[in-house]
Amino acid sequence: MRRGARRAEAAWDAPVLAAIILLCAGLGCACAPRATLGGPQRGPDAPDAVWRLEADAALSRLSVRACFADPPEVLVPGSPRASRWLVGAVLAPRGSALRVDGDSGAIDLSEAGAGACVDYTIDLAALLASGSGGHGARRSAASAFIDPDLLLWRPRDLPRGYRGRVRFVLPEGLSASSPWPVADDGSRVLDATAFDGTARIAVGRLSRFTVPSKRGPMEVAVLDGERAATDRGIQRWLEASAAANALVFGATDPTPAQVLVIPSPDGDDSPVRFGMAMRGGGAGLLLLLDPRAHDPALPGEWIAIHELFHLEMPAIRKDDAWLSEGVTMYYSEVLRARAGFLTATEAWQRLHEGFERGRRGGTGRSLAEESRAMGSSHAYMRVYWGGAAIALAWDVALREASGGRRSLDDAMRHLQACCRVHGRFWSAAELVEALDDWWEAPLFSRIAEPWLASQDFPDLAPLRAELGLELSDGGDRVRPVPARLSPIRDAITARVPPGAEHRPGDAP
Ligand SMILES: [Zn+2]
Repeated sequence: MRRGARRAEAAWDAPVLAAIILLCAGLGCACAPRATLGGPQRGPDAPDAVWRLEADAALSRLSVRACFADPPEVLVPGSPRASRWLVGAVLAPRGSALRVDGDSGAIDLSEAGAGACVDYTIDLAALLASGSGGHGARRSAASAFIDPDLLLWRPRDLPRGYRGRVRFVLPEGLSASSPWPVADDGSRVLDATAFDGTARIAVGRLSRFTVPSKRGPMEVAVLDGERAATDRGIQRWLEASAAANALVFGATDPTPAQVLVIPSPDGDDSPVRFGMAMRGGGAGLLLLLDPRAHDPALPGEWIAIHELFHLEMPAIRKDDAWLSEGVTMYYSEVLRARAGFLTATEAWQRLHEGFERGRRGGTGRSLAEESRAMGSSHAYMRVYWGGAAIALAWDVALREASGGRRSLDDAMRHLQACCRVHGRFWSAAELVEALDDWWEAPLFSRIAEPWLASQDFPDLAPLRAELGLELSDGGDRVRPVPARLSPIRDAITARVPPGAEHRPGDAP
C-alpha cells in the first residue's frame, strides 16, 4: 500500500455555498466578546489557534471560524489545492471582506487586529465531488472523509510547537472522527504534528465503535454506504489484526488510534483495497473496504495487519521507505502464518512472489536511490520488497548468531522502545545505527549496506538454499525441504498458540 508519506513522512499504503456565511453563528455580530467567538485564551497552555468547523446536514458547505491568539499577516491552507474550494473570507465580527489570493488561497490578515477571527467558507460539495486527488477526500451518501489540510487555514510560517483546537458543530445525527485527542470541553487538541503530518477526519452519518486491543483502543468510524460486512465483523477483523501485531509487540504502551473504514466499490477482488497509516496529531488508519466483502473474509487479510505494524514502529522519513515498508511487508506475511491465517508454506510462497515482484519492479537505481525517488518513480515493489529481503536476511542472521534465542522480533521491540517518539521522524541510517548498537556489532549495517548500494535486487538464492526453500514450476513455486537452516525457517513462521504472544519481561 502506498502509505501516505508526506512532508515529514508518514507510512502509507478517495458542490456551493448556501447563503449563510456564518458571520456570527447567530451569536450577535456586533460586539461579540472574545470568549463568545471561541478564540484562544492567553496562558501557558492556551492554543495558538482555534477553528470551529460547522457543516450542514447535506455536507454541501463548511463554515469555519478561525481565531488566533497572535494573528499572522497571512493565512494559508495546509494544502495548495485547498484554494479551489474557498468561497470567501471575512473578518469577524465586523464582517468586512478580506483579500484572498486566487491562486494560493492565502487570506490577507495584515489589517486585522489582535485577537482577530476569520470566517471563511469551503464549498464542501465541490471538494468532495472532486475526490481531491485520490485519497484526500471522498464522500458517500451522508458522510465523508477529508484531509484537514484542505480545511484548516493557518499561518504560513508555523512557529515551533504550534498548537490548536478544533471544534465541530454538526447537525443532530451527524458526528466527527479525528485522530486528535478530545479535551474535557469536547474540542480536539492539535499538537505540532497535526500541522505537518498526514491525517484524515470523517464527518456525517458514521457508524462508530471502540475496539479494545493490546495496542490500545481503536476508535472506529465507518462511513455510511452499502456493505456486506457488519460492524461486528469489522470489529473482529481489527481485533485479529491487532492480535497478530501483538505476537511481536505484546501489550506495550497503549496508543489510541483512529480507524476510518470506507466502503469503496473501486478496486480488485481483495476484501480490502487500500490502507494508509497516519501520524498527524495522533495515530490513524484509513482502510478502503470492498462493499461485497463478508465478515469471514476480513480477519487475516494483510492490509490492516500491515498498517497497524507501521504504527508500532518509529516514524521513518519517506526517503527511507525501504526500511519502514521492508520490515512491515516482511511481517505482513510472517505474522499471518504465526497467527494461523496462512500455512508456513503459503507465507513463504507469498514472500517469494513478493521478492519476484520486487526484482521486476525497479527502474535501474540502487535500492537507496529507488527509495528516495519512489514518490515520482512509483517503483513501490522494488522498494517494499527490496527492504523485505533485507528484513529476512536480518532475521535469519540474528537467529543463527544467537542459536535461536534472538530474532528480528527483539530488534523491532527495541526500535519501538528506543525510538517510537510522537513527533519524531528518523532516518534509516539512525535506526540501523541504533540496531547495531543494540546488537553490539554491525550486523544490521553489514547486511543492509551492500544491498542498498546495489542496482540489482538482492540475490536471495544462497539464503533460500540455506533455509531449504526449493523452487519448482520454473521458479514460481516454493517447497520447503530439509536444509541447514530449515529449523530457523520453521521458527520464523511457527504458529503461536493463542495466549502465548510476547509479553514485556518475557525471556527473549
Ligand atoms: Zn506500508
